[in-house]
Amino acid sequence: MKIISISTKIFRSKLATPFKTALRRVDNLEDIILTIECDDETIGYGEGAPTPVITGETIGTMNEAISYLSPMIIGLSIVDDFDEIIKRIHNGLLHNTTAKSALEIALYDLKSKSTKQPLYSYLGGTKTSFETDITISINEPDTMIKDSLNAISNGYNILKIKLGNNKQKDIDRVLAIHNAIPSHTKLRLDANQGWSVEESVEIMQTIEKYGIIAECIEQPIKADDIKGLLFIKERIMTPLLADEAVFSINDARTILEIGAADCLNIKLAKCGGISNAMKIADLAMEYNVKCMIGCMLEGPIGIATALHFASSKSNIISMIDLDAVALLQSQPLKTTIEFNGKDMILSDKFGLGISGDF
Ligand SMILES: [Mg+2]
Repeated sequence: MKIISISTKIFRSKLATPFKTALRRVDNLEDIILTIECDDETIGYGEGAPTPVITGETIGTMNEAISYLSPMIIGLSIVDDFDEIIKRIHNGLLHNTTAKSALEIALYDLKSKSTKQPLYSYLGGTKTSFETDITISINEPDTMIKDSLNAISNGYNILKIKLGNNKQKDIDRVLAIHNAIPSHTKLRLDANQGWSVEESVEIMQTIEKYGIIAECIEQPIKADDIKGLLFIKERIMTPLLADEAVFSINDARTILEIGAADCLNIKLAKCGGISNAMKIADLAMEYNVKCMIGCMLEGPIGIATALHFASSKSNIISMIDLDAVALLQSQPLKTTIEFNGKDMILSDKFGLGISGDF
């Protein structure tokens, strides 16, 4: 099962409604689908969505990184040289984490196919049924209430509320949504680095005074301010989740060692793929820290892979933030996941089980 070629294609899909956070607005998904072909005609599929404001990558840099790395692994065998292939990808080029993740996704698809297993069981997972949250984009409070109620009427029980562009408005948003929704609906808050340290403490303490303890507050401050995270964590009751602050295993170690966050958000596109994601989840486990599995605004192959990975780690399976495909206007590819609103079900097809018209 030797790699003979690697190619990429741009995948575009319209979003049902614009995706808006404190960092960006997106109207259309545009990402890269990657195909690795082996000499026995097995094909592996990967995917990665460039997110310039988070990983610094674009479609152009991803394509360039993939063409740069490809010659280093062509000719190697998925069965015999798998660890060497993964090593070459990570040693051959710094950063470019989404490009590396797209390559890894296709490689793990092939590897699990070679063992005649779905990816989740190759990775050691057994759970096949999950519940995701759904993102409520940052907007005027009235619109966010409408979007929240709409999501709830579509069956969602967990809302991820985007905040981070205005202190008073953010408080108003949370109070208004909390008052409008059923009490069993869980809230996850995400400020996407939009607040200062002082604002974070003030906003969260205000929200908490109203008796609202969200499931988490995600990355309230700039990614590089780890001490700031610790300062906030010591002053609020809501669990603090680090997202943009955790790319690599070293980032995770720094945060875990000083106890700067209650949870970590793992995204394949940030850490460079499954191999590093596993290391981060395992390290978090040593500290008894839960992880969320998150995603970029990406297509079904990336989402399928993230869910397979989540199945394999017991400290992840309760925090699934994989709604990107639910935000698309139409579902273009078939994967091993049955996307049915909040419920995501893995099937037992080999690998990722990708089929469809690319
Ligand atoms: Mg986030």
